[in-house]
Amino acid sequence: MTTPSQSVRVEALGTVGLSTAGRLLLLYTGGTIGMTEDEDGRLVPLDLSRLVSHLPIINRLPVSVTLTAFADPIDSAAIQPQHWLDIADAIVEHAPGHAGVVVLHGTDTMAYTAAALSFLLEGLDIPIVLTGAQRPITAIRSDGRENLVTAAAIALAQFEGTATVPEVTIFFDDVLLRGNCTSKVHADSYRGFASPNMGPLATAGVSIEYDRGAIRPPGQPPLRRSGGLCTDVATLRLHPALDEADLTATLSRPGLRGLVIEAYGAGNGPNSGWFLDGLTAASERGVVVVVTTQCGAGSVRGGAYATGAALLDTGAVPALDMTFEASITKLMVLLDRYSVDEVRLLMQQDLAGELTTV
Ligand code: ASP
Repeated sequence: MTTPSQSVRVEALGTVGLSTAGRLLLLYTGGTIGMTEDEDGRLVPLDLSRLVSHLPIINRLPVSVTLTAFADPIDSAAIQPQHWLDIADAIVEHAPGHAGVVVLHGTDTMAYTAAALSFLLEGLDIPIVLTGAQRPITAIRSDGRENLVTAAAIALAQFEGTATVPEVTIFFDDVLLRGNCTSKVHADSYRGFASPNMGPLATAGVSIEYDRGAIRPPGQPPLRRSGGLCTDVATLRLHPALDEADLTATLSRPGLRGLVIEAYGAGNGPNSGWFLDGLTAASERGVVVVVTTQCGAGSVRGGAYATGAALLDTGAVPALDMTFEASITKLMVLLDRYSVDEVRLLMQQDLAGELTTV
């Protein structure tokens, strides 16, 4: 099965801002940044017009801002693969003529969306900056205003006539991170995101300092979406009590085509026969098994330990230093487009900056 359910309607809601010297596309999908309390005191998303009324700064930006939004903004915990395709399509449709794009998104799954967009979008020569907030924009101590304004500045930044950061990125607190190298690392802190295997692409203080050597070159336009997403994937997080029944339940998912294992350390797992034989049989029947690490940082290297070598000997491929979010979204994109052998090869090649060590 490839990409489920209904598309999300993205509405074009007009233009605000002071001039047409630069043009910014803003896409609001939901998330805490645009939430307010309902009658039970729980946070629910506002629609864009009410959000903008809490953000007079948008009207004061010295650029023309094209406003687009999900017709029904969502808590990003409810995001599904179809939303990634809808966001990619909305960017492809509305971005031409704009210097950059800011996507307002909930923090819970922002790293998954950023990674998915980085693999789905081809020909990218403008910045796509995802941001959000840990506190609603309506709150006095909201981090949303600063995040939005700096994300907009980064999306519009030019160096020698081209976009300074023509990549899919996440801006949060004071750092700009490559989207497909990033994870949400804190549930409460305003420094909610990190890219543990690479430094920030930019740091925002009084001025915004870019690490130009780390920023990827622009793609070759036109901007387009490449293919769809295969959702016949599963994940398995190892823990010492995992048993044969757990593995069998995962591997017997109907139509399974891809499995991401969250292994220990440098890619190690149990050496029990049921575990290794089960995975060997899955690989032999064409399931692409990818080994990531439960550690927040570092790399899966085959062969450092006998247990890790045994896991890769089953036919599994190492995720090297990809995040879990990048591993699963890349697998979904590749399975939609390539043969099993090609997917196994491409998972270990850098396609969009997701592997920092190859
Ligand atoms: N649950 C919210 C979301 O991801 C959390 C946030 O935005 O910070 O939409």
